[in-house]
Amino acid sequence: MNLSDIRAALDSLGREPSKSLGQNFLHDQNVARAIVAEIDPRPGERIVEIGPGLGALTGFVLDSGASVTAIEKDGVLADFLRERYRGRDLEVIHADALDFDLRSLWPRQPVKILGNLPYNVSSQLIFHFTSALSPAQRCLFLVQREMGDRLRAAVGSADYGLPTVLLGRRWRMTERRRLRPSVFLPEPKVDSALIDFTRRVPDEVPSCDPELFEHIARAGFSQRRKQLRKMLEAELRGANWPKLALAIGISETARAEELSLTQWIALTKQLAPLGAAQDGTAEIFDVVDEADRVMGQAPRGEVHAERLRHRAVHIFIVNSIGEIFLQRRSAWKDQAPGCWGSSAAGHLDRGEDYPAAAIRELAEELGLRGIQPGSIEEMATLAPTATNGWEFVRLYRLRHDGPFHWPAAEVETGAFFPTALVAGWLATRPGDFSPGFQECWAAARGLGLA
Ligand code: SAM
Repeated sequence: MNLSDIRAALDSLGREPSKSLGQNFLHDQNVARAIVAEIDPRPGERIVEIGPGLGALTGFVLDSGASVTAIEKDGVLADFLRERYRGRDLEVIHADALDFDLRSLWPRQPVKILGNLPYNVSSQLIFHFTSALSPAQRCLFLVQREMGDRLRAAVGSADYGLPTVLLGRRWRMTERRRLRPSVFLPEPKVDSALIDFTRRVPDEVPSCDPELFEHIARAGFSQRRKQLRKMLEAELRGANWPKLALAIGISETARAEELSLTQWIALTKQLAPLGAAQDGTAEIFDVVDEADRVMGQAPRGEVHAERLRHRAVHIFIVNSIGEIFLQRRSAWKDQAPGCWGSSAAGHLDRGEDYPAAAIRELAEELGLRGIQPGSIEEMATLAPTATNGWEFVRLYRLRHDGPFHWPAAEVETGAFFPTALVAGWLATRPGDFSPGFQECWAAARGLGLA
């Protein structure tokens, strides 16, 4: 849409651009085309567009053959867009994008997010759509230049702050281009910047406890002129600050803005070291026969290498509205990294019985203490097969609404999902799930879960 098309469209709708909705419509066709080329939409992909407005970017995305989900808060514009692109592969959602349920996107991958964002809520929208629950591979956001500068600021600069650090842990942010105010109607007061978000790969930054990372970064930056040592007094709990500062390579008098991303991560790890990775030799399992009778014991590594029958539990937690809690394995795990799986699961230790293991896993993996054996219901028993790694699996159900706390070394994130969504997701993208979960889900079908 060029300038006169936009004016004509607004006239026909009897509308003026709304300031409170941050409506600055892009009218330069070349710029719109270049922005869409940057996100590189492809057939088979879903582009989620935040604030499509009159469709300046939407049309070019549809022309690429990708599917579009457009979320627009202005009902008049949402209707206009539906009409304009009737018959195309476009779903228009009339809603506040801040309320958009990211869980619904998992079965619809691959997903990329695009938006010429309303400036007044751009930061909240960026945090929402790049959160741990977002399946997006890539995001491309047009923001005010000042915000763009903050997102990709260098350590120690005046722009370097909380958003740089919090978003930078999982995303690499690059400026693709700057836009003059004259390409928009009405013209904003400042230039805009197109910021490309690509996911960091696990080797790029070390893993750490994300909650603690966010907590200390927020505390540190809450008064950026003050020394970190003072700002983090509560978190340090009497730790030897000079020694700690030396270990992460900062001065004792450092302020939040002087710590690089890797130093924030190193500080988090110093305050809460992640559990040592299991090397497969320390744990000892019971080895069982074809009737699940204990025959002897062997180390974990040997049990798996020799394909010896052993025992495991899976637990499905269901909340009061019937949703199932799934956990997503950390991207840093060597087996099934990034896969979604049961609410909790694990092997039985030597001499342990199934219910005791289920209760222990709930405590270890989700921080649920004091669960009584009577509150876990047995749902199914699975026989050992090559697919499940020669495990006798006992599947339990627990009714619980959370909240849960998981160890960052093991679990990336977790959330309750409607069971119908999980069923559809599994049908279209089974590879998103661990093989163990897939077997348990199949066993649970018909038992009121699937
Ligand atoms: N994409 C269009 C373009 O490039 O011309 C419009 C961009 S305009 C800067 C921002 C758009 O976001 C407007 O259409 C506005 O109505 C919409 N919007 C504002 N707040 C929103 C919110 N919270 N959720 C969804 N859309 C919103």
